[in-house]
Amino acid sequence: MSGPTIGVLALQGDVREHVAALTGAGADARPVRRPEELDAVHGLVIPGGESTTISKLADIFEMREPIDKRIAGGLPVYGSCAGMIMLAREVLDGRPDQRGFDGIAMTVRRNAFGRQVDSFEAPVAVSGVEGGPFHAVFIRAPWVERVGEGVEVLGTVTEGPAAGRIVAVRQGNLLATSFHPELTGDLRLHRYFVGLVRAAS
Ligand code: GLN
Repeated sequence: MSGPTIGVLALQGDVREHVAALTGAGADARPVRRPEELDAVHGLVIPGGESTTISKLADIFEMREPIDKRIAGGLPVYGSCAGMIMLAREVLDGRPDQRGFDGIAMTVRRNAFGRQVDSFEAPVAVSGVEGGPFHAVFIRAPWVERVGEGVEVLGTVTEGPAAGRIVAVRQGNLLATSFHPELTGDLRLHRYFVGLVRAAS
């Protein structure tokens, strides 16, 4: 059985790593930067990178409205790190001109961990994903301060000064993590997302 076609929003960020992880997880993965390329996919990943830049380029490449429309139509979307910020309805410590998609009913704090350290690693168990906690890598990462109705908390940090912070959520077909599973060779989250895309298409 051939895998579902999943795009990786290729405006800025770690696009190649997500394409590789999705391919390893059984998807037909490809970079997407134009509206007509978006039409061809059954799921979309918004990579880690810099949310202020992705926001700006989403306007320049005229991708904002097409992506919002597809989200409204039920398109499964997974955002990691900057991608999580782009999927949040409210952002704290963002730049005044940055704007996300019509995504998850949550408030995220940008660079939340970065006040103490730029990057760190911690175990994070994600409910619905078997095989033990992820070795989660956080790089100037956001965390989720509040979730609204219909948002399921899938994972929190379990150790250290950030213990208890929400770092993985899902609302319907929208999935977001503060950390970067695409950088660690652990394909479980990408497999989970591929399953979500299969179920939705
Ligand atoms: N700090 C970045 C932002 O605000 C996110 C960092 C990342 O994606 N690794 O978008």
